[in-house]
Amino acid sequence: MPFSIFNPSDQLSLDRKIAVGLERISQALKAVIWEEAKKSGLSPIQIQFLTILHFEKYTAWTIGELANRSSLTPATVSDAVTSLEQKGLVARRKKGEDRRTVYLNLTDAGRKMARKLGGWANVLQESTAGLPEQEKAVFLKSLMTVMLSLQGGGHLEPSHMCITCKYFRPNAHRNSRMPHHCATIDIAFGDSELRVDCPDYKANSVEGA
Ligand code: SF4
Repeated sequence: MPFSIFNPSDQLSLDRKIAVGLERISQALKAVIWEEAKKSGLSPIQIQFLTILHFEKYTAWTIGELANRSSLTPATVSDAVTSLEQKGLVARRKKGEDRRTVYLNLTDAGRKMARKLGGWANVLQESTAGLPEQEKAVFLKSLMTVMLSLQGGGHLEPSHMCITCKYFRPNAHRNSRMPHHCATIDIAFGDSELRVDCPDYKANSVEGA
């Protein structure tokens, strides 16, 4: 039988069991967002776009940026945005001197809807709330390593994580409870304060920790 993480006969591979767990979590998230979609009359992609436009304000959103962020084609993103426009939730606007670039903005109704639907993935945060703080920090570091690997394989768009940030100085303060340093915010911090979606992030030219 060809290798598959879905083959339950291999109970010895830790990597496979973690992969199965992650796959089940992704299934749970899909179910949650479909439930929201049924209630709101929007598609899962539209809910995700409203959430991104509302909360990730550090990017000037265009169709191309949204396509990168969501690992979708510009044509798919454009269709979903057109539908959101028709519902009065998103507006396309040109601004500044470069009149060729079209930016995406939420309308008042779009902001209201985004606030209402923005908690669709909170169930994930609730699921780890009971873990001891130390375990959470280890989990966070492992998660970032997994994300980095997926990014390296071209399966995930780069996230605004400390470990790939130009300003990250890992272990700059050795033997300290807060060993890392951020060169732009100028603070020392520990593993549990590592960020995965930092508004001050700047990509390192060579990615890696
Ligand atoms: S700017 Fe943000 S992502 Fe970069 S090192 Fe500082 S805290 Fe981390």
